[in-house]
Amino acid sequence: MIKTCKCGNVMSDATVPNKIIYWTYFEDEWEKQILEILEKIHFPFIRTVWHCDKCDRLYNWEPKDNKLYTYFLENQDSTENECSCSNEFNKGTLLKVYSYNDFESPSIQSQIRNGEEVVFPRKVEFCPRCKRVFVFKDKKIKAFYVEEVTDLKIE
Ligand SMILES: [Zn+2]
Ligand SMILES: [Zn+2]
Repeated sequence: MIKTCKCGNVMSDATVPNKIIYWTYFEDEWEKQILEILEKIHFPFIRTVWHCDKCDRLYNWEPKDNKLYTYFLENQDSTENECSCSNEFNKGTLLKVYSYNDFESPSIQSQIRNGEEVVFPRKVEFCPRCKRVFVFKDKKIKAFYVEEVTDLKIE
């Protein structure tokens, strides 16, 4: 598949592994995915989030409502964030999200198979009220806000 970002960058999933696609799960889905990795159940659930490395936009093809959510990287100094979620990031009151790319997948899978505690390359949380996504990596928090929501057409 090819997707042209709003910034003009052309993204493609033709090369595997890639750093464009992030396999992404909420907590209940992740628990099932662990069982899938352990080959205990068949859980063919897929949510892919594409990341544009030119402008940092995220595209979430959301399987739960068949919509494409476009996220943009919010200005960290924004005063327009009315939601209290920005203060709640470290309190665990937001929904946990598990997300990793093809390069990170093998080590996560082997940690699961070895019964080790899985160390994720980034901490991701989602605010169900304002739909912001927070990504914590390298001691930096990036906040993403929904820019556009479009219906997906089944072709
Ligand atoms: Zn872009
Ligand atoms: Zn919020």
